[in-house]
Parts: sequence; structure tokens; C-alpha cells
Amino acid sequence: MRITTLLRRLLGLKQTVVVGFELTETELVVDVKPSTRLAICSCCGRRARRVHDRRPRTWKHLDFAGMRVLLRYSIRRVDCASCNTTTELVPWAEPNIGFTRPFEDYVAYLAQRADKTTIASMTGIAWRTVGRIVERVVARRGSKSRLDGLRHIGIDELSYRRHHQYVTVVTDHERGAVVWVSEGKSAETVRKFFQELGPERNAALHSVTIDMSAAYIEAVREHAPTAILVFDRFHVQRKAHDALDEVRREQVRQIRGTEEGKALKKTRWALQKNPWNLTRPETEKLSLLSKRNRAPYRAYLLKEALVGILNRRQLLCRSAETRRVV
Ligand SMILES: [Zn+2]
Repeated sequence: MRITTLLRRLLGLKQTVVVGFELTETELVVDVKPSTRLAICSCCGRRARRVHDRRPRTWKHLDFAGMRVLLRYSIRRVDCASCNTTTELVPWAEPNIGFTRPFEDYVAYLAQRADKTTIASMTGIAWRTVGRIVERVVARRGSKSRLDGLRHIGIDELSYRRHHQYVTVVTDHERGAVVWVSEGKSAETVRKFFQELGPERNAALHSVTIDMSAAYIEAVREHAPTAILVFDRFHVQRKAHDALDEVRREQVRQIRGTEEGKALKKTRWALQKNPWNLTRPETEKLSLLSKRNRAPYRAYLLKEALVGILNRRQLLCRSAETRRVV
């Protein structure tokens, strides 16, 4: 097999031909071109009359084997009868967007499942870009059929543009795809989703994963009363972490000014960490805590017990071959 054929298969892009590539230590740049020779106007989709010139451009694609992958192509600027001068339509990306469609699909899925630091480090893109990508992905899937056959869904909010704007994102856990998105993060926004889904499809929902906000819970109970409410384990764990920190801070207040109080103040990170990540000084801190400060230590043990239960539950779920997330 020729290497360009191999690359074309790896890229998995339709109507795209691989004409060459360049490999650096961290990056694979693949030279591509549309498989059709005719230039299509990216505004109206009609055949362009004339080609003006070409401008070199790159598009970020899915990483491969730990390497950044870029597509490179000199895009044609064209004359269109109705849109004047525009650029041609390329089969791998939306007009004027520097990411390929598979990359955007991946980001949109990730946006539902991971925190922003993880997404930023996994994809190498800024958080504020994520919101716009999610909107595009959902618009692309535009048809109503994406809402058919839903059984296990997740509803989550996602902030972008420096946290000033929010979108609510609904994911189909089974297909691993974003199926609905709308601006806002209130119960009202969630209600809009259920209204669009309609009574029949609401009744077919088996489970809905949400964060633990009362407004979301109420909206789900109201529209899909037969669905099981599932809380993401990290939201549950976060509550235990917060409670533990509250107990610790209360104790610090009580013994303020003493040596013991000062020592307790410094235990915050040790208490929040997983036991297997503790450094030796942190282990010593906890050992001292177990003797001196019973209340925070007890809260710590309760938090660890909860984590243990959640780990156990996840194993059970896997063994039962359900694809649900607990
Ligand atoms: Zn046009």
C-alpha cells in the first residue's frame, strides 16, 4: 500500500485526496486536496466561475499516535455569480474554520465528559473556542432524527467566552454524540429540550445524567418522571470534598491561634488527595490528624469510604455490560 493511500484511510475523510506529507518530531502535516476538480463556492454551494488565486491554509485534525495532525491545502479564492469573491468549499471543514469536522465532533463530545483543563491539554485549543465548536456540531446534525431513540442521556452546562455565556448541552451516552444545545443554563433551558423531545420520547428515556442542581432535578422529574436520575460521580465526590473542607475549616476556627490550628490549616491538600498520591510528609500530617483532630479525620474517612463505594459501583456496572456512567 502506498503511504498516501494509508494516510487517506487513516484520516477517514470523504472526497479528500492525499497528495503528500511532511513529518516533524511532533507534527504530521498532510497535504490534501478535494477529490473534485471543480471549485465550489463556500457561500452558496454553486460552481464557481473563475479562480482568482490560492492561499495556503492549514486545518487541525485529530491527533494520531500522539502527534499533532494538520491538513494543508492552498485554498482557491473564487468568483461566484451570486456571492462575488469567496473561498472555495473544502470537503473536510466548514467554511472559514480552521478545524476539520471529525476534530470538532471529538471536541463537542469531550466538552460533555471532561473538565476544561483536560480538554485544553487533550486538544490544544482554548476553552472559549469549545463553546462555538459545540454550537457548530449541533447545527450540522440539524435534523430532528438525532432526538429519536434516546435512552440514556446526559445534561450539562458549559461556560465559554470567559464564563460570561453558558450553553446547555445534551449528550446521547449510547452514541457518544451531542444531540442538542441551547444558550442558557437554567431549568427553563432544560424544559425547552424536553418540550422539543415531546411526551412520547420523554417517556422512552431510561436515565438522565445531570449535575446535582435542584433546578435540573425538578425539570427532569417534571418531564421524564420514569427516567432514573443519575448524578455524575465527580459531582457526588465534589460534594463530599466540600463537606470535608467545611468540617476542617470549622475546626480551624475553633482552635485558631494554636500550633495545632496552624498545622490543621496546612492539611487541606493532603485531605483532598487520593491516598496513593500522598507524599511522605502528607501521610505524616494525616497520621497526626487521626490522633489530634477526630472530627476532620472522621470526615476524611467518610469521604474515602464514599470514593470506595463509587469505585465499586463502577466495576459492577462494567461487569453488567451497561454503558451507563455512574
Ligand atoms: Zn456563491
